Amino acid sequence: MKDLYIDGSWTESSSSQSGRAVLNPHDGSELSTVSEASHADVDAAVAAARNAFDGGPWRRTSARERGELLRLVADLLVRDREVLARTESLDTGKTLAEGRIDVDDVTAVFNYYAGLADKDAGRTVDAGNPDVVSRVVYEPIGVCALITPWNYPLLQLSWKLAPALAAGNTVVIKPSEVTPLSTLRLVGLVAEAGAPPGVVNLLLGSGPVVGSAMVEHPDVDLVSFTGGLATGQRIMAMAAPDVKRVALELGGKNPNVVFADADFDTAVDYALAAAFLHSGQVCSAGSRLIVEDRIHDRFVEELAKRADEIRLGNGLDAETECGPLVSEAQRSKVEGYIAQAISDGARLVAGGSRPAEPELASGYYLRPTVFADCTRDMAIVREEVFGPVVTVERFSDEQQAIDLANDTDYGLAGAVWTADASVAQRVAAALRHGTVWINDFHPYLPQAEWGGFGKSGVGRELGPSGLAEYREAKHIYHNIRPAPMRWFSGERS
Ligand code: NDP
Repeated sequence: MKDLYIDGSWTESSSSQSGRAVLNPHDGSELSTVSEASHADVDAAVAAARNAFDGGPWRRTSARERGELLRLVADLLVRDREVLARTESLDTGKTLAEGRIDVDDVTAVFNYYAGLADKDAGRTVDAGNPDVVSRVVYEPIGVCALITPWNYPLLQLSWKLAPALAAGNTVVIKPSEVTPLSTLRLVGLVAEAGAPPGVVNLLLGSGPVVGSAMVEHPDVDLVSFTGGLATGQRIMAMAAPDVKRVALELGGKNPNVVFADADFDTAVDYALAAAFLHSGQVCSAGSRLIVEDRIHDRFVEELAKRADEIRLGNGLDAETECGPLVSEAQRSKVEGYIAQAISDGARLVAGGSRPAEPELASGYYLRPTVFADCTRDMAIVREEVFGPVVTVERFSDEQQAIDLANDTDYGLAGAVWTADASVAQRVAAALRHGTVWINDFHPYLPQAEWGGFGKSGVGRELGPSGLAEYREAKHIYHNIRPAPMRWFSGERS
């Protein structure tokens, strides 16, 4: 299998380990087998990226040329939209419609950074002296390790890869071992677009083996990681000895606050999408509903009814509204949380079990699950479940809603639903979360920063800050009228 991409060539792993099976979450069947990279492959990929950064033609490209490369990748994404969407659906279990949206979003991200690449070459600052020209310029950081998760393999990679290349870095990519297939295709497109050898390299394999070796490699300058909190903490510690740049997106426990004056049907409808899109395996999933007392009971009843009606099935089937979880391991983890919630006293009002349909029996399915009577001390309310589970808490006034919504170690995203614009603005201002939606849930824009407060991570992706993550600022101070200043004149008064 030549499925590692190192120094401009597709190569075989040098590991003696046999390949890893990639499974279809719909039925557990094998989609493909991929390689496991060895430590020697990690060294080779990092060396290729290092050489391309330190000495190759890439360092002499202009920002405009790099933007043109990204534009070409965007064009190729449009060309291959259908095959990419299908690959993503097969590999992750999400619906084909969601897969198409992902590819369109990825295309928009490449186009956005293609446009931004040459827009800002730095700035001139006033040195307070007419004989000085003082400039701040931006330079690439160097070799970047990009480590991505299984829920949005293409999308999460694009948020890292496009700005990293726009800024002039070289990269070594490692997708999740669970869902590597669309990343293989995307790397193929970047190669087809003409990225010089060594600029983009791809390794496959497990996080603890290949990912750790990348993070600890002395020739890696920056690690950008999206995934779970525990892994993020480990990566930050591993990067510390070399003081590597670290960018972390670690998920969230995202509150969705509904006031009684919100449009009821719309709020219920969006609460379902917030919680159950891609079976809740979304870092910004609205997994924590916080509903005003006056509508609480009616809201829970309608939510549970509609959750029960969600059509589960194969992501490739046009009738399907919600696919399986990504893996058996992820489903077991979520089932553990459900059992714990029941024993902690949460009231199960929908789902909580595997579907009964025989045709779904061999896939990693779980019914959309709603828990009422939840309190902030429960694990199901505090921890990121990453599955089709939503909890409902209640509030009686604005301050209590804010206190509940901010009572989390995370701080990635949150929403407020109300017809009162003043309440909406006050609550939005008070929420300690990186994205706040008012009367909406989930949309994000390539041109707007994405990232979290608290344990949701470090740094921001997307927007101008997403590019800044991959640049060093350098101050160049030019004295244009040099003359002796005689600080040390040697003369005595
Ligand atoms: P991880 O955080 O373990 O995996 C994310 C990526 O990091 C994968 O590519 C993984 O590789 C890699 N990785 C794992 N361990 C290391 C390591 N020691 N050094 C370097 N890289 C590593 O996510 P899991 O798949 O274990 O999911 C655990 C939980 O994380 C989920 O239940 C969910 O709560 C959360 N999560 C959050 C996401 C988000 O978007 N914020 C996305 C996915 C998960 P590999 O998988 O190949 O081993």
